[in-house]
Amino acid sequence: MMIEIERLWQALNDVPDPELPVVSLVELGIVRDVQVTAGKIVVTITPTFSGCPAHYAMQDAICDRLRQVTDAAIEIMTTYSPPWSSDWITDTAREKLRAFGIAPAPRHGGNVMLLEAVTCPNCGSANTVLRNPFGPTPCRMIYTCNDCRQPFEAFKPL
Ligand SMILES: [Zn+2]
Repeated sequence: MMIEIERLWQALNDVPDPELPVVSLVELGIVRDVQVTAGKIVVTITPTFSGCPAHYAMQDAICDRLRQVTDAAIEIMTTYSPPWSSDWITDTAREKLRAFGIAPAPRHGGNVMLLEAVTCPNCGSANTVLRNPFGPTPCRMIYTCNDCRQPFEAFKPL
């Protein structure tokens, strides 16, 4: 039986992130690879953090979605090498996050120290200040905008 990789990617692109359902695991760059080996589907994922509490929810969601398009055996492998990078978030996902009120981390090309200011998703101002490095999940932080005075969440640059 032929398994079309493209179809698997399309199915996976429907799987929302358990913590941020506005974007998919593919758009966040968490799904790294899909291969078919000896009739078995092997999906490689890199969660945003090791010990990410949503890890098992992600695996279940991936399996449930793939079972809708294939009967083949599914194996999910987790790798932290290389570690997940916020640079992997696609442009589409960045727009969705911004529309949802979460500032996507600026692309840093591996040099987190050279980060530009985090831009307010409400008004676009770069005049923002970090309030709390511990947001609702380990991947997010709380900022406040000095211009529109709105607090907002930002993805940690990783
Ligand atoms: Zn603002």
